Amino acid sequence: MKFYSTKNRIERVGFREATLKGQPESGGLFFPVTIPTHPDQLFRSMEHLSKEEIAFDVLRPYTSDDIPAPDLGKIVTDTFHFDFPLVPVTKSIASMELFHGPTLAFKDVGARFMSRCLGYFAEKSNKLTTVLVATSGDTGGAVADAFHGVDGVQVMILFPEGKVSSIQETQLTTYGENVKAIAIEGNFDDCQQIVKRAFADKDLQQKLRLTSANSINVARWLPQQVYYFLAWQQWKDKDQLPVVSVPSGNFGNICAGLLGYKSGLPVKHFIAACNANDVVPEFLKSGKYEAKKAKATLSNAMDVGDPSNFARVVELFGKDTDQLKKILSAFSVSDHETKDVISEVYKSYHYLTDPHGAVGYHALEKYTALHPGTKGYFLETAHPVKFYDVVEPVIGESVPVPDSIKELFMKEKKKVVLKTEFEEFKEFFLNH
Ligand SMILES: *Cc1c(COP(=O)(O)O)cnc(C)c1O
Repeated sequence: MKFYSTKNRIERVGFREATLKGQPESGGLFFPVTIPTHPDQLFRSMEHLSKEEIAFDVLRPYTSDDIPAPDLGKIVTDTFHFDFPLVPVTKSIASMELFHGPTLAFKDVGARFMSRCLGYFAEKSNKLTTVLVATSGDTGGAVADAFHGVDGVQVMILFPEGKVSSIQETQLTTYGENVKAIAIEGNFDDCQQIVKRAFADKDLQQKLRLTSANSINVARWLPQQVYYFLAWQQWKDKDQLPVVSVPSGNFGNICAGLLGYKSGLPVKHFIAACNANDVVPEFLKSGKYEAKKAKATLSNAMDVGDPSNFARVVELFGKDTDQLKKILSAFSVSDHETKDVISEVYKSYHYLTDPHGAVGYHALEKYTALHPGTKGYFLETAHPVKFYDVVEPVIGESVPVPDSIKELFMKEKKKVVLKTEFEEFKEFFLNH
């Protein structure tokens, strides 16, 4: 499969180059030249397939030029090695749990797939690849875990000193070895600024093979469609298609689902579940896309004022907003509603949602109220314990910490603290 740039259709690269580059030179995002159609047989025989087989079939068309079948088999087996259960919550709403991975959030899927692909490409070229990434919290943990121990790849993770949660800091700083945690004495924007300058720096480019692991990378975006197929595999009533509600921030996750749908996955309707950052709900209402400054909310992994992956959603529907609206609705959910939902769902159904999942749940409820009789699921994108500071006061109970996290707390934290000046970072970078 070749990928073009959404800003320049002539710029085309294969999967390997798209993964290594991250972003096209023209700006924009890499996008597949054709949308594969999966054979009916995949959907008919799904019950008999393992999750690894489904992942292989879904991802094969995108990678076949650059990764031979047996190697892709190894990569997907390594990526999808945890559970993806679809858990009934009410008669009409189920939760697709995506938090059973090592860092308890769905970003594990994209980060693991990308790390294995980069490891595979590094092995072929014998050249060290350096991944540089800025994080406000969640992404960094998934990247640290995913890349830890991958040969031929070293990772530098920049995060704002003192501005990530204690679980997040633990996840960033306890891996060590090929994963370096760098705390910047500034905010997230300062971290991103340094990363941007590093990519533009000729010196660094010459000395290192630099790549980014941010959410627009095709190797993080594409594997996310797989769990929508795994949800369909577990969907009981195949005559009534599910409405799928996706807690959305940067819109990579929902865009992956829409891509699956375009490839033949049975879905009745998608819902983009947003918090107070309502650029997309407003766009679907008014037809005008107006980026805004991000607002801080309880579901902070979705605090995005200008979702970068939305360009891919628009591209997927040939820039035709009317077509898009037939399959996609969007709702904005307030912090107040989010807390109410966490409390209500826990009281009534003994199911604990995290703030992001709660936004997804409530948006699905809103849609169902307008379309009685529909059934669906929401993506539970993180384990509630990751947001215990929000969840525990709402339910008045403590959330048990999974053993995997307890283990991390026992390990030694290692980080380097640097100022926001680029030159200081560069010097450190060149010496490590
Ligand atoms: C990143 C994240 C999201 C948003 O996903 P996008 O692909 O950016 O829309 C939702 N929930 C959690 C827990 C996240 O970490």
